[in-house]
Amino acid sequence: MDDCIFCKIVKGDILSYKIYEDDKVIAFLDINPLSKGHTLVLPKQHYVNILDLPEELYLHMSKIVKKISQHLNDKYKPEGILINQNNGKRAGQEILHAHIHIKPIYSDTQILSEIDLRKSFSKEEMDKFVKELSLS
Ligand code: AMP
Ligand code: ZN
Repeated sequence: MDDCIFCKIVKGDILSYKIYEDDKVIAFLDINPLSKGHTLVLPKQHYVNILDLPEELYLHMSKIVKKISQHLNDKYKPEGILINQNNGKRAGQEILHAHIHIKPIYSDTQILSEIDLRKSFSKEEMDKFVKELSLS
């Protein structure tokens, strides 16, 4: 995609702080990180989000996320690691080239928690959701 900033990074047209690369995936440091070591893992080929990523590629990305998380943990010893992927603008996705965030969380890292915003549904509603959503 010509106007995609992450495609430009993959091609080497824009500088990035790359920490990992293989034939399918690249990982570089986020330019406006939440914390030291905040890394983005993305496919070299342009896909928009989890819905159009081929399953095999998503599985491979997950393997790399695990590998880099372990590496960040060994190097920087954070108190936790937050992993998230925003899919769609309404879900906070600014760059429409699929990517997974790996965010080390240290004692002084400010994180917005969604816990206070969570809802609770009645047993009837939960049963209805299970009926609608059950895959087995
Ligand atoms: P998202 O909101 O999930 O689409 O996240 C996009 C992320 O890309 C943000 O955290 C940005 O700071 C990061 N970002 C934007 N431009 C660059 C860039 N040129 N190099 C590295 N990270 C970038
Ligand atoms: Zn792209």
